[in-house]
Amino acid sequence: MIKRDKQTGQHINLYDSAEKAEPELDTNFELYEELLEGVEQQIPLTEQSSKEKTIKQLELALWGSEQSVWMWDRTNNNVELKFYVNASFEVFERVLEFDDITVDIHPDDADAFVIDWNNHVEGHTSELRTKFRFKLKSDYVWFEIRGKVSAFDDQGALTIIGTFTNISSIVSNQTKLNLMSEAFSKSKQPMLILSQNMVITEYNEAWIQQLDPNEQSLDSVSFAELVPLNKKDMEAMQSLGYCEKNTKLTIGDQDAIPVELLINQFESTDTLSQFYIVLVKDLTDTIETEKKLHNLATIDPVSLLPNRFELLNQLTILSEGSRAFFDIYYIDLSGVKEVSDALGHQSSDELIQNIAQGLSKELDDAYIISRWGGNEFIVSLNSVENESRNALILENIARIQSAIIDNAVVKSGQHFTVSSFIGVANYPQDASTADSLIRKADAALYFSKQATHANYSIYSKGMADEILNRIELLNDLRDAINNEELNFVLQGKYDQERKLIGAELLCRWISDKHGFVSPGVFIPLIEQYGMEYQLGILAIKSAMSYLQTLNKMGTKVPISVNISATQALDPQFIDTIKTLFEHQEVDASLLELEVTESVFINDSSNANKRLDDLKAMGLRISLDDFGTGYSSLSYLGQFNFDVVKIDRSFIIEIEKDEKAKKLFCAIMNICQALDLDVVVEGIETEKQFSILHNAGVNKFQGFLLGKPSAFEDFVEQNQIH
Ligand code: C2E
Ligand code: CA
Ligand code: CA
Repeated sequence: MIKRDKQTGQHINLYDSAEKAEPELDTNFELYEELLEGVEQQIPLTEQSSKEKTIKQLELALWGSEQSVWMWDRTNNNVELKFYVNASFEVFERVLEFDDITVDIHPDDADAFVIDWNNHVEGHTSELRTKFRFKLKSDYVWFEIRGKVSAFDDQGALTIIGTFTNISSIVSNQTKLNLMSEAFSKSKQPMLILSQNMVITEYNEAWIQQLDPNEQSLDSVSFAELVPLNKKDMEAMQSLGYCEKNTKLTIGDQDAIPVELLINQFESTDTLSQFYIVLVKDLTDTIETEKKLHNLATIDPVSLLPNRFELLNQLTILSEGSRAFFDIYYIDLSGVKEVSDALGHQSSDELIQNIAQGLSKELDDAYIISRWGGNEFIVSLNSVENESRNALILENIARIQSAIIDNAVVKSGQHFTVSSFIGVANYPQDASTADSLIRKADAALYFSKQATHANYSIYSKGMADEILNRIELLNDLRDAINNEELNFVLQGKYDQERKLIGAELLCRWISDKHGFVSPGVFIPLIEQYGMEYQLGILAIKSAMSYLQTLNKMGTKVPISVNISATQALDPQFIDTIKTLFEHQEVDASLLELEVTESVFINDSSNANKRLDDLKAMGLRISLDDFGTGYSSLSYLGQFNFDVVKIDRSFIIEIEKDEKAKKLFCAIMNICQALDLDVVVEGIETEKQFSILHNAGVNKFQGFLLGKPSAFEDFVEQNQIH
């Protein structure tokens, strides 16, 4: 029982009357006691109805304070509970056995509870106050119980009365708070707490470790001393409640550190004052990594020069300059593949590296020197807007070429012959974007490769169009060959009496899109793009079929087929011809193959062997275009040709020049001495015919005697029936 001392007005704990100081009371508990006191004082026990009313008031107050009441009675060891639940002011009452309650206390809290309980029951504490988790259904809920012995006898406490409160939400708030402060101090991210006027009030361990190893005191230091905050930042904070920025942080006399800041504004629910939490991320490593990544993305790892992406980037930047006027030099090295084939990739990489260094050193005035890919570099150099541009380009090309030649070395010290083709284009004259500028330089490069006189070329209008046309032409040509859309015409060969003695098969391509395409255009394309095997087979099949038809018509004249050098040297091609002869009834001696002296260029002994194989099959071999090359006479001695075809260019000279006529006669004598048939090509006039006739020529080919014609026309013109 708790009584109030009538004189002093103090609460007296009868059980613990020795206690002098009033225990510090929880306001709710005090209220409860106060009310209980009130019930006793104001209402005589007999006036039940009024007492009940007052108890109701008490319960109402308990309900209002969200507390419930318990009472323990030693005589039955029961605990009587009263819950004040909701707005209906209902009271639920339950009686539980004390032991049943203790069973449901969380095992981690049970010992503390028993100690607290016993301490109070045994009179060691003036108040029972303990917290524990209690099992409600399957979950544990935090409760705080408070109580005091209200009656005792000789054996000690007889009853204890008190309150109990569900404090789960308080505990969880506390837990949150603990977690927050734990997070703040243990976080790996440096953090600061600033007061409303942005003075540093707290900083965590990570701050010291990562940013301030000398632990310079930051107490009462204004945040503005560390980081410059501008008006915009403050406005963002005002309107959004936070501000993010990348800036530099300067702590005391340390070097500035690049950081990312996130400043969040908070309002303390306790004090209603504002404060700021600053999260700091040290960007030193990030910037370093970004730099490395940037390098990886922009630097070519072999040459250590900017790569193609960086070049495009730099050219774009360069072209945005207000007075930009520059040339780019698209350089294609030749000879690197040979190094790689002979010494491996590592050596060719070394070679590229050395050349890159050489270029960087020589062209120290270049805006950019980059590796475009494989064996290609692109350099950008200043240019001039007048007629001296060409001279400047020549000077630069000479510098580029000497840098390449001088540095074509590998580690072993071995020097290699590396040459280059260069295409030059100008910004802004030739193109307005980096992309198209490079395409223009590439077109010029392509032309430099076609040109025989120089290994560089300066872009001029139309070059790119021409290349596009060529690409289109090439694709269509491929289709024409695959679909066997090429035609073969015949041009007769005649004797002194103008009687037909043979014919040459000439290929024709009449395209829907491109019209008549000269063999002088498409034959080199076929050879350049490896389609000559297909063309060769088509030509031989066609010649065989014409021979068969002519044979049936009673005319037995040989047909000659033009064969490229690679074909003549290709054993597979020779085998195919063999197979064709096995399946066709054609006299092999009626098929003549015309080859040019280019067949001997790489390996003349191999060429002799292959040509022998063809001759062994019974075919006749003729040397075409005699007189256009360099060492024609020596080839005549090397291989036992059946026929020599003297080129048209020779005939043109004979008409005008006495010396040429003498030279021609000398060649005729040699051929006769070697027992070679001589066919003279390209006879267009009667005068030519008679000169040649007089010089002893007895086989003629040319427009004068017969133009290349479709088979049917050929048959008609030559009166073959
Ligand atoms: P080529 O072997 O020297 O063929 C002779 C060329 O001279 C032919 O040119 C022919 O039309 C031309 N021609 C003949 N008589 C005269 C004349 O009196 N005056 C002039 N100005 N030209 C005359 P075409 O047909 O344009 O062929 C050019 C070249 O293309 C041929 O030169 C040959 O090297 C090549 N070619 C043609 N057809 C084939 C083929 O089926 N296969 C291969 N590999 N090359 C072929
Ligand atoms: Ca020919
Ligand atoms: Ca010829």
